[in-house]
Amino acid sequence: MLTVESLPLTVSNLGKSFRQGSNEIAALANFNFDLKAGEFVTFMGASGSGKSTLLHLMAGLTRPDTGSVEVEGQDLSKLSDGTLTKFRRRRIGLVFQALNLVPTLSALENVCLPLQADNSAKDEYRIAASLLEKLGLADRQNHLPGAMSGGEQQRVAIARALSIDPALILADEPTGNLDSANSRAICQLLRDLNQNEGRSIVLVTHEPEVAMWSDRVVILKDGHYLAELQVSDFQSAQDLSQRYHQLIESELEVKEVIA
Ligand code: ADP
Ligand code: MG
Repeated sequence: MLTVESLPLTVSNLGKSFRQGSNEIAALANFNFDLKAGEFVTFMGASGSGKSTLLHLMAGLTRPDTGSVEVEGQDLSKLSDGTLTKFRRRRIGLVFQALNLVPTLSALENVCLPLQADNSAKDEYRIAASLLEKLGLADRQNHLPGAMSGGEQQRVAIARALSIDPALILADEPTGNLDSANSRAICQLLRDLNQNEGRSIVLVTHEPEVAMWSDRVVILKDGHYLAELQVSDFQSAQDLSQRYHQLIESELEVKEVIA
């Protein structure tokens, strides 16, 4: 059953450079990408290929040098800082590998944070408690992050992202610190949030096992769109991994260094 109306998202000609010493590094260049409503897509690519930069641009956390990110037909770069922040807080659930939780706040308080920041719910503790329960953490509500396992912490971070009932979840290597059992549990959870609740998901990973849970894999190399794969064309993570490495290794160096 679809309970959330998912957002279509269009990335056009997106570019972002960073200064590193005397060089400008094109972290992302001429990037085009469409997320259909209700899709679950993964971005794969080597470390430094621009995955996080792309995700941050899609979340409106950073502004592009060129191109646009349109969500529901709205160009994020045309919004004022205040409107953009409000939009992000209300519509996008962000899950990151690191910088996840506030260490001095309990699980429950961490999950409440986005709702308090937005002042949008009066019953934030009830919402947070029910999310923690849904994610199997009912008995961890009052624990500090440091007293929880990596898998539990990541589930708290997902509960926190879900607190605002987002149509779109952006997750940057959410399984990066987890063992394979916990990693599978997180993937299953994201798949359920996508299939049962109709939320769109964009997940960054470099693990083929994780990518197998999505519908489509977009491969980045050196800040450029390299190729994309339909997960249903692959029997196993091993097959996907093989194809991914073929693609990554077959292409010429494409990094643009602007002097
Ligand atoms: P990935 O997430 O795929 O590992 P990133 O998007 O983090 O890649 O980085 C892409 C490139 O941009 C890398 O060369 C990285 O060093 C550079 N980069 C990213 N963010 C910054 C920043 N804030 N300042 C300078 N360089 C950055
Ligand atoms: Mg990254």
